[in-house]
Amino acid sequence: MNLLLVEDETRVADFIRRGLKAEGWVVSVATDGETALAMAAAETFDVILLDIMLPGMSGQTVCRRLRMKKDLTPVLMLTALGDVEDRVAGLRMGADDYLVKPFDFDELLARIDALVRRAAGFQDRETEPHLLSSGSLSFDTRSLEVRCAGQLIDLTPKERDILKLFLSNPGKIFSRERILNSVWNLNEDPQTNVVDVYIGRLRRKLGPGGEPIETVRGAGYRYRTRGEP
Ligand code: CA
Repeated sequence: MNLLLVEDETRVADFIRRGLKAEGWVVSVATDGETALAMAAAETFDVILLDIMLPGMSGQTVCRRLRMKKDLTPVLMLTALGDVEDRVAGLRMGADDYLVKPFDFDELLARIDALVRRAAGFQDRETEPHLLSSGSLSFDTRSLEVRCAGQLIDLTPKERDILKLFLSNPGKIFSRERILNSVWNLNEDPQTNVVDVYIGRLRRKLGPGGEPIETVRGAGYRYRTRGEP
């Protein structure tokens, strides 16, 4: 498996690279955002490990540019301790998860593993029904293909997770906290509108197929099944 590590502090980069190499990862290192973007454009990586504090272009900008270029490689952001705003900004830029420095190496491995498994499309969950659908919308949880009226729709991993939550529980109301917990693994309320931003994006991408994502005032969101008022 190929991993791109974007970290300007040589000692930290060396530590992570050596540890991951020992776990069988092929690790490429970029020390600034421009180089990282060039490397990501030239090669396919399974995961990108992205430090936020970089000289010049920040990690958040790197992530946003990747997503703008439709690069959906899972991104794990590395943030300084306690920077809740940084973390939330990173998630809003399309990062899939974050890890606070200093971190435990086992924790890093576990997070990378989770991202890879999720990106692989829950392939080990054979018992789960793999085709979710409602109206003109269908979601194959193995191939991760989302189609609306037969048309393929490009979703980021987080957008897919939200859609999966809705389609697996049609009619059920999900609070923002519940969505944050289920999709971002956040147990605290970061006091942001990150969920609303993602729901808005999801609706736009799905077009008319996204209309059933309903805002329930004061409660959250739910996916209305066809025929329901
Ligand atoms: Ca740094």
